[in-house]
Amino acid sequence: MKEKIWLSSPHMSDEGYEKEYIKEAFDTNWIAPLGTNVNEFEKELAGKVGAKHAAALVSGTSAIHLALKSAGVEEGDIVFCPTLTFSATANPIIYQNAKPVFIDSNYETWNMDPKALEQAFEKYPEVKSVIIVHLYGLSSDMDKIMEICNKHNVVVIEDAAESLGTYYKGRHTGTFGEFGVFSFNGNKIITTSGGGMLVSNDEQKIKKVRFWSTQSRDAARHYQHSELGFNYRMSNVVAGIGRGQLKVLDRRVAKKKYIFEFYKRELSSLDGIEFMPINDWNEPNYWLSVITLKGSVRPLDVMEALEKENIESRPVWKPMHMQPFFAEYDYVGGDVSEKLFENGVCLPSDTKMMDDDLERICSIIKGLWSK
Ligand SMILES: *Cc1c(COP(=O)(O)O)cnc(C)c1O
Repeated sequence: MKEKIWLSSPHMSDEGYEKEYIKEAFDTNWIAPLGTNVNEFEKELAGKVGAKHAAALVSGTSAIHLALKSAGVEEGDIVFCPTLTFSATANPIIYQNAKPVFIDSNYETWNMDPKALEQAFEKYPEVKSVIIVHLYGLSSDMDKIMEICNKHNVVVIEDAAESLGTYYKGRHTGTFGEFGVFSFNGNKIITTSGGGMLVSNDEQKIKKVRFWSTQSRDAARHYQHSELGFNYRMSNVVAGIGRGQLKVLDRRVAKKKYIFEFYKRELSSLDGIEFMPINDWNEPNYWLSVITLKGSVRPLDVMEALEKENIESRPVWKPMHMQPFFAEYDYVGGDVSEKLFENGVCLPSDTKMMDDDLERICSIIKGLWSK
């Protein structure tokens, strides 16, 4: 059996940058709690995306949670959320005992449909916050979405967990709303093994998030707490991995784009195959190469044929309004996200793949059409 090809696995730098930062943390005994790596990783990431401030946290999920808390989302409040996403986008709404209203995608972006968003505002004018996702590294249509959200005066939180390195009209995703969220989970474009970052231009809000994330300890010698606390802060070792990974982000984006274009060149002519939409205002990070299938070859055929050869692929995210856990919440839109789920396949997008891996994957897929 050939070595497994992963959908998207950790890829440390050839230069060993990550190890150098970790070594420094060991040598100075700044293993915990905080230290240089955390402070510098915050500054470096904020600089990379063009945000003024950043708080390094244990996960993207915890960053969404504290963004919602900072937005004042409380029990019973409504929060709009795209239905086509990973559950980590929606779960923190429930942590705050608030109510998600799920919103459909459009085919032009695969992300939140501005028309459905307007309908949702008509139905729920009291909404407190809107979470936008940039799925698979494709940016949402931010001009239209921000225009609608600004008209209604809501706090916009961008879940950019999948879109580090993605630009909309030259501006980095995650910097349009009040808050942007990044993730360094194991399968993301860069990883710290696990981690997240909350960015904002509002320094006071980021300071408050750091305070909450370290158990809300008041400035007193004794242990005093005036607010609910969380243990959500990133460690100095993890931040060291992040600093090293950030150095190779551009290289990873270039390779992801190469992978997408390789598939497109080799597979576009197959009957019924379509590639995820690359709009001219969108410079994606191509985190995953995703296709949809309309003909007789179904997504399961592709996934099973690849699996037989020890190659990982995945379906598109199952929409939140179709999830048993979220079934009780409202949904606004048509069937776009359902169709993308039904017809979509995420192709192997691991940056360690070589040309012969890509050729092998393409020939397995093409084989399904010649049966
Ligand atoms: C990965 C991911 C998250 C969660 O990030 P973690 O760091 O794993 O908590 C949130 N939203 C989306 C869309 C993701 O893909």
